[in-house]
Amino acid sequence: MTDNRIKSGAVRDGKPHKYFTMSFDDGVTQDRAVLEICRKYNFYGATFFINTGLFGANWADVGPSQFGRDDVTHIRFTEEEIKTGIYDGFDVQVHTLHHPCLVWYDGQPEKLKEEVGGDADNIKRIFGYAPVGMSWPGSELNASETTIKKIIELTDIRYSRCAAHHTHDFSLPKQFMLWYPSCSLSEDCVDKLADDFLALKPEHDAVFYVWNHAYELDVYHTYGRLENLIKRMSGAEDVTCVSNTEFYELFKDDIPAY
Ligand SMILES: [Zn+2]
Repeated sequence: MTDNRIKSGAVRDGKPHKYFTMSFDDGVTQDRAVLEICRKYNFYGATFFINTGLFGANWADVGPSQFGRDDVTHIRFTEEEIKTGIYDGFDVQVHTLHHPCLVWYDGQPEKLKEEVGGDADNIKRIFGYAPVGMSWPGSELNASETTIKKIIELTDIRYSRCAAHHTHDFSLPKQFMLWYPSCSLSEDCVDKLADDFLALKPEHDAVFYVWNHAYELDVYHTYGRLENLIKRMSGAEDVTCVSNTEFYELFKDDIPAY
């Protein structure tokens, strides 16, 4: 494939702007329903973080063991499915090859490079562009300062989304390799934050960042919440919807990787 990402075309003009961005982890089959909602509103401000070493993997224990839900699947797309264009128009970035606890590899830089750089190489081969971003597998709690510095040294990855802590505000990341989102879609505060963001008259740049795993929409029945959020954000004249990577490109000269 060639790079077919649909971009906002946003540029920074010295005035304060409000940015909205989302991301979804793991490349699971529930992404289809998320993508359908996004496309319904012509919304391309979402990034999908996938594991190209786990194509087709069925993690049947996630639903029952993490959520007590036998009916919630965790099945990743196969490479063949992805090549049919499931993510056409959207930004796809790194979540490592096999979703390991990366801190295990602090003494094995070649393994770290393989997990992060190998996933990036596969994404480049499949989607036609070189990733610059990732989300931490198992959250930033599974990474150390050494992990972060080694990734910067050994790969082209320059931002990584966290999951264990949320800002619950619209502040910009202080360092892109520890990019804390505003909230998870599974949190009840999403709608209140959306209200606040739409009402905000910014004096400086602001970002509303909502992340999730698409299988959590099955767990918490949040498809309506997602649709409402995307409808409101994509319909707001003073909100710019950007992928994580577009946001990074807009701010990379002002915000350090680490
Ligand atoms: Zn994950």
